[in-house]
Amino acid sequence: LPVVAVVGRPNVGKSTLVNRILGRREAVVQDVPGVTRDRVSYDADWNGRSFVLVDTGGWAPDAKGLAQQIAEQAEMAIAMADAVLLVVDGTVGTLDSDQAVVRVLRKSKKPVVLAVNKVDDQRTEAEASSMWNLGLGEPYPVSALHGRGSGDLLDAILDTLPPAPPIDYEAERGPRRIAIVGKPNVGKSSLLNKLAKQQRVVVDNVAGTTVDPVDELVEVDGQTYTFIDTAGIRRRVKEASGHEYYASLRTQGAIERAEVCVAVLDASQPLTEQDVRIMTSVEETGRALVIAYNKWDLTDEERRKYLSREVEQEVAPFAWASHVNISAMTGRHVDRLGPALQEALASWETRISTGKLNAFLGRIVAAHPHPVRSGKQPRILFGTQAQTSPPTFVLFTSGQLEPGYLRFVERRLREEFGFVGTPVHVEVRARE
Ligand code: GDP
Repeated sequence: LPVVAVVGRPNVGKSTLVNRILGRREAVVQDVPGVTRDRVSYDADWNGRSFVLVDTGGWAPDAKGLAQQIAEQAEMAIAMADAVLLVVDGTVGTLDSDQAVVRVLRKSKKPVVLAVNKVDDQRTEAEASSMWNLGLGEPYPVSALHGRGSGDLLDAILDTLPPAPPIDYEAERGPRRIAIVGKPNVGKSSLLNKLAKQQRVVVDNVAGTTVDPVDELVEVDGQTYTFIDTAGIRRRVKEASGHEYYASLRTQGAIERAEVCVAVLDASQPLTEQDVRIMTSVEETGRALVIAYNKWDLTDEERRKYLSREVEQEVAPFAWASHVNISAMTGRHVDRLGPALQEALASWETRISTGKLNAFLGRIVAAHPHPVRSGKQPRILFGTQAQTSPPTFVLFTSGQLEPGYLRFVERRLREEFGFVGTPVHVEVRARE
């Protein structure tokens, strides 16, 4: 979601304006001069457009190092936001501290919307017009208290944001796309046949979908899926030369078209590099994953003992995916595939609200601060979930995070929010 940072001195009515924009009393009004609050963020909506509103906290007018506070707040807003909302007080006009932040904002190329607050009547309206001379474009007179002008202000904010991504209607309406992947002979086509036999093969055309001739609609656990490249799975594609090369291209193509993949492994045989490569490719392509250990009927106790070691060691990088032990031949536990697929897809599409995410980040940062390195303390300032499918988070930090700390954050994210069956991406945008 696009991020809008709200910047301004304490007492200009920032929190009241934030409340007004959110349309609910969420941002507690506590703009006490001289008290710098922590950043708080909220998910906001206007005219069907969603964005994240970050209150960057006010700067303390009488504190030492005022210039530095202002610069920091403005810089952070510029670094992390798609647009900046600068709030000034229409009843007192601009102070030197406002001017300082205006300079920083003007130098940046970020879009800035200027709100002149406390314009409760005609008289202060003239005062608002004089704010043209700040060089930040049209000043928007508002009364956060009475709600005056907030609609126009919101329109102006939306105008500065990047256009909304087009809605992927096909993905929204059609059945979920699933790819069965795995090296030759692990039982992919047997599994497909089993599913198609156990379940109804959907022959009629589902509204709004066009099925590729190599694909097939199959119902699993009451849910219709488009199985990708079933033609390729059913009839072995024979190439005179470079067979493996073409097979792996085909697999990669199927993964890319899929939303969720079933990686089929042969439980009766040791894991191979090719198995790992295929699962790695699912993860790197950012698709949901369920691991199916097939040919369970061929495993004896000794093999199963060995297998659990394999799972703990070689399959450990994919511990985020759930696995099912099945036999495509006998049908054992094939019915567990459906719930696992639905869980993986639900995780894949999870959206964590910005408020929840930052409450969580606040907790882990407080309990486990980043180690101090060469006198500096890298810190996570704010985070937002930039995307779903798969969940992708952006952390805004001061200083670079160590890889170990980043992994710790990723691990805690999973502990907190689950994400079973989906890769999770975390990106860091550091301000030095
Ligand atoms: P694919 O190349 O991955 O599509 O594998 P196939 O479905 O063609 O299966 C390869 C061989 O393994 C065939 O001889 C299948 O009968 C056999 N097979 C598949 N699944 C199972 C299973 O669960 N148990 C046993 N015992 N054999 C299986």
